[in-house]
This record gives sequence, structure tokens and C-alpha cells, in this order.
Amino acid sequence: MISQRANEFTSFIVMDVMAKAEELERKGEHVIHLEVGEPDFQTPEVIEKAAIEALKKQKTKYTHALGLLELREAISEYYYNEYNVSVSPDRILVTTGTSPALLFVMLAMLNHGEDIIVSNPRYPCYQNFIKAAGGRVNEIVTYPEEGFQYRSEDINKAITTKTKAIMINSPCNPTGIVMDEHALKNIAQFQNQFIISDEIYHGLVYNNKAHSILEFTNKAFVINGFSKLYAMTGWRLGYCIFPQEFTMVMQRIHQNFMISANNFIQWAGIAALKYAKNDVKAMQTIYNERRQYMIQHLKRLGFAVHVEPTGAFYVFADARKFCSDSYSEAFNIIETVKVGVTPGIDFGSAGEGFLRFSYATSIENIEEGLKRIEQYLKNR
Ligand code: PMP
Repeated sequence: MISQRANEFTSFIVMDVMAKAEELERKGEHVIHLEVGEPDFQTPEVIEKAAIEALKKQKTKYTHALGLLELREAISEYYYNEYNVSVSPDRILVTTGTSPALLFVMLAMLNHGEDIIVSNPRYPCYQNFIKAAGGRVNEIVTYPEEGFQYRSEDINKAITTKTKAIMINSPCNPTGIVMDEHALKNIAQFQNQFIISDEIYHGLVYNNKAHSILEFTNKAFVINGFSKLYAMTGWRLGYCIFPQEFTMVMQRIHQNFMISANNFIQWAGIAALKYAKNDVKAMQTIYNERRQYMIQHLKRLGFAVHVEPTGAFYVFADARKFCSDSYSEAFNIIETVKVGVTPGIDFGSAGEGFLRFSYATSIENIEEGLKRIEQYLKNR
């Protein structure tokens, strides 16, 4: 029989939309994908070359459980250069994507029945990592007019003796909102809890630079990786930064459950951090053009965008004027005009009535997709 715990894992609805898209494509339909949260760019050549070279040099054995020292030093240098924070390499664990890092952080910090504060809406996988580690989800509703940011007073009300951490994600999936210095300081003031800061979209910021939580507190776990910024989703490379006292436990957890991340891919990660700056800049510029185009045209179609998203590659558009059931709406859209969008309900009850549009696709696709949506809205 399936375990009670496994039965409680919620599904990732965007995957259902993608499965529908695939079914339509197999029938010969031309689907425009505005649902996917994956860069459409190729991985920069300098990274690919480093992986091939590492393979040729037979970098094919296990590495240190925390990751190659050279990569951890490069991550440490990156955080110093970007945010002026000192992180010693023994506070870094390299993992196969940020997803396992999230799981291991939960395993390292949570006792059975303790809870973690998450916002509603939020990235849909968070709750399952928490549950997998025996924790509880302590959900706080956030509001579109405030860019879905936490209110400090709501955090104060939600905190119990069992609250272990507060989860933040900036730039945010699904909202694209970037927390400024003031917002991060507000979170960092909660000194009795750890802050878990998912910084995977850092670098994909189009106005001001994003700040790391480590600039404001050391009682934090940072989750980051290579999937988004370097267009490396399928390489599976990520990392977490943790407080010093967790070094031995993170090492032990990783030794047991993973042994180590892939050796030659870690060498590619070093190349990404050191040599892919220009490639990243080029991608940023294109994302920004798409972002502006998408916001402008979604507004023209009647969607509300309450606070302008300035990071990641998503617009979380308010469709409540014409949609109360985002799940059905997303499936109607894909079935009638063959455009994939992600229903807001995927991100929690407070996302109901919203649709997430991804601009990790060409401007031509965005233009065609929005033209089809316009048609859909006219004919409904
Ligand atoms: N956090 C957020 C907010 C994400 O959007 C994603 C990917 N969709 C992840 C973590 C996981 O990324 P990965 O495992 O590819 O590093």
C-alpha cells in the first residue's frame, strides 16, 4: 500500500498542462508553450566545452560529499563578488539541482511536527519537501496589490513555538517579484527562525540588482543553482549554503543519500561561474525585452498586472475579471487555441483566478501565443 506520506504529496499541475500539450502535439497541433519554467536558450558553449574536457580527463569518479572544493571555492567567490558576503567552502553543499538541496535542508533542520512558513501563492514543490521531512506547512496568504510580499504582522501571528523557518523566494516563481533591501531586512529580523532563501532566479533581474539574504543574516539557508541563470536545467546542478553548525550533518546526509553530485558536471559549473558572464548578459537583455512586451500586451488584453515583475521569467497575471477556475481555464485555453499557460491554483489557493505566463520563449512565440489568447477571449 502507498504510504500516507506519499499520498499527501500534491501534484505539479503545470506538468498536467505540459502532458496535454504533448498529446495535442502528437496529433499534429502547433502548441505555443507559455507554461514552461525552463530557459529556451542553449547552455553557453563555454560550459559545454568545460564538461566535455572534464569527461575527456576522466572526471568520472565520486567527488567529496560536499562537492568539489574548486567548485565550492568558485561559489564562495561568486557570493563575495556579487553580494560582498563571506561564505567558507565548508558551508556549501553541491547537489544535483536545487531540488535535492531543498529536501536535504528540510531533513537537516526539521523535527517531526515542526513547521515552516511559506507564502500562498508559492512554488508548488515547497510543501512536499517540508512534508517529506515530517514537517508541517504554515501558510500565509499574500496579496497581489502588495506584490504578494509577506506582511510582518502576519508572520508574527503565524509563528508558534514549533516554527522552525520562514521560506522566501526572490525573484519569485510564480510572481516575478524581487524583494528589495527593506523587504529582506524585515524578514531577517525574525531571529528565532531560520530563513530559507531560494535564490535560484538571482541574476535574472531587470531593474535593480537582487540582494542575498546573507547580506542581512547568517541564520539562513540559501538555495541556488545553475538551471535558470545558465540555461542548465537538464544538467542537474545546484547548491545550498548553510550555517556553519550544519557542515557535518549536510555532509552526512549527502554521503548517505547521494554520495556526491556528478563529477564532470561540477567542472562545468566552475566554468559557468567564471566564464559565462557575457552569455548571461546576452540572455538577460533578451528576457528583459520579452518581459516588457509580455506585460504590455497582457495589459492590453485586459489582464491586470498589479506590481510589475522585474525578475525571473514569469508574469503572474490577474485574470479574475473573466476567470474563477484557473485550472479549467488553462485547459480550455490549450484545447481551443493551443496555448499552454499555468493555472494560478498550482501555486496555492491565493493564486486562484491568476494565470502564470512564462517568457522563456521567443518573442515570436509570445506574440503568436498572446494573439491566440486574444482570439480566445473574444470568442468566449
Ligand atoms: N525553486 C524554484 C522557485 C524553481 O522555480 C525551481 C525550478 N522550477 C526550482 C527551485 C528547482 O530547480 P532545479 O532543481 O532545476 O535546480
